[in-house]
Amino acid sequence: MSPEEKEEFRHRAAEEIARLELTIASLENDTQPIAPDVSLGRLTRMDAIQNKSVAEANLNAARNRLQRIKQRLDQLDSPDFQQCSVCRDEVPAARILYLLDAQTCLDCATN
Ligand SMILES: [Zn+2]
Repeated sequence: MSPEEKEEFRHRAAEEIARLELTIASLENDTQPIAPDVSLGRLTRMDAIQNKSVAEANLNAARNRLQRIKQRLDQLDSPDFQQCSVCRDEVPAARILYLLDAQTCLDCATN
């Protein structure tokens, strides 16, 4: 990637990390244990448990994505940053800038 593309990557990654950290804080709040005597208003306890498990899945996904993007930021200056982890072809800069955590080319990602 060109220095400009790397700068763009840093910029986009920083924005995405900030966004994910907010999402994670909010989801952590939604995944607190549900007290048995809590007043749930019109929500039934089953709904609350259902919502909590959806929030837990989203929380895991957000944490994993945050981890991967931080990892990619650390690897940005490494010579094989753009190398597909499967076929070793070069992953297009546009794909990396769009997905931020892409480590494979489109062919390998879809096969
Ligand atoms: Zn590939």
